[in-house]
Amino acid sequence: MKNILRIMLEGSYTNLKRILFAADRVTDMELRRRILEGTVEPEPKVAEVSCIGCAGCSNACPTGAIEMRDLDEPVEIIEGLMKKQIPVLNRERCVHCYYCHDFCPLYALFGEPGTIHPNDVGEVEFDAGAVLQKPVKISEDKLKFISQFLADKSVIKRTDTLAEAARKM
Ligand code: SF4
Ligand code: SF4
Repeated sequence: MKNILRIMLEGSYTNLKRILFAADRVTDMELRRRILEGTVEPEPKVAEVSCIGCAGCSNACPTGAIEMRDLDEPVEIIEGLMKKQIPVLNRERCVHCYYCHDFCPLYALFGEPGTIHPNDVGEVEFDAGAVLQKPVKISEDKLKFISQFLADKSVIKRTDTLAEAARKM
């Protein structure tokens, strides 16, 4: 009984310190103020220019948090590969499992930064067209696994051809 009373008193004292003196707070006070005021700007979640619009992230997402949105004008990334859509991430449905990032073929097949990430992709600067022209070595198992998620199979076809070329090098 004595112990419970001591724990309760200690807890009340600690909480009072947190409320009155902002002790033990993990969140930055400035950020806390901005959150309360509703002035926090959402960070970009998709590097739209670098994304090739294959929909792998959307198909891999276990919570259906990623929708593919039609572009006003399709973009030709390389010959025979048109980008027609880009992903839009619904943060309320996201459980931060990072499957989207890991399934993004740029990351999974080419070892380049994935162009989608629930915690902000930051600055992603690379030329997707140049990446897709690079000869790369990819195991059959990996190709098979990734290809089941891609809406645009031309990425894999091209990758397959490149992988074949790389095998002969
Ligand atoms: S991190 Fe979020 S958006 Fe990405 S796959 Fe997981 S739930 Fe979906
Ligand atoms: S998997 Fe990567 S490249 Fe494909 S649509 Fe999603 S973000 Fe874009």
